[in-house]
Amino acid sequence: MILHNDPSYKIYFGDSKDDCVKSDGQINKEYFEKKLQDLKLDNLIFLKQIHSNKGICIDSPSLLNKKLILFEQEGDFIITNQRNVGIGILTADCLPVVFYDPVNHVVGVVHVGWKGAVTNIISNVIKKLKKCFNTDTSKIKIYFGPSARVCCYQISNEFIKNFDNCSFCEDIFLKKDGSLHLDLPKLVKNQLLDLGVPKGEINFDYNSCTICDLRFHSYRRSNQDPGRQATIVALK
Ligand SMILES: [Zn+2]
Repeated sequence: MILHNDPSYKIYFGDSKDDCVKSDGQINKEYFEKKLQDLKLDNLIFLKQIHSNKGICIDSPSLLNKKLILFEQEGDFIITNQRNVGIGILTADCLPVVFYDPVNHVVGVVHVGWKGAVTNIISNVIKKLKKCFNTDTSKIKIYFGPSARVCCYQISNEFIKNFDNCSFCEDIFLKKDGSLHLDLPKLVKNQLLDLGVPKGEINFDYNSCTICDLRFHSYRRSNQDPGRQATIVALK
């Protein structure tokens, strides 16, 4: 695991040592209790992820009725201005994206698969940040976590149909050794740039490839093993 410790926020990027999901697919509650303690958080919240383009805004302590709020509400992103509240997502090959708005002191975490990307989850996150906190996109900082990268994310010729109505999709496919690959991080980066996020504020340091880097859980490599790694961000 990696802990990115900024004076204003901390980000936890998990790996294959994360046992948040048991081999039978059940949630391991002890894992989340331990994370709450280890990261010294007041609350920890995860949504029931459904590959959607929807999410929630936590802008009041009244929305935090207990310490651990696990997979109760459906959605694929969370934003908050509440300090010491861990907001998290689980991934295996999908892309974890962390947002930080330094002006309003707001963080966000987003689960982006290809489905969420083509249905504009990133633009929905920005809309919600603007609505809840009046965020200026030109001030946002972004971190990409570990995901399937273009080196290994093989797709079929038919799969490209899913991207027919997608903007920014022209240069996200790569032909490699006679097969076709998808560059999901590049698609999300293109979308962020179009929405006004500065290029220099998109950090790829933690975007290792979950398929070829054996330190991570990978849905594709492991023949659909239910293991997932967590990404958690909290304001200090
Ligand atoms: Zn790879």
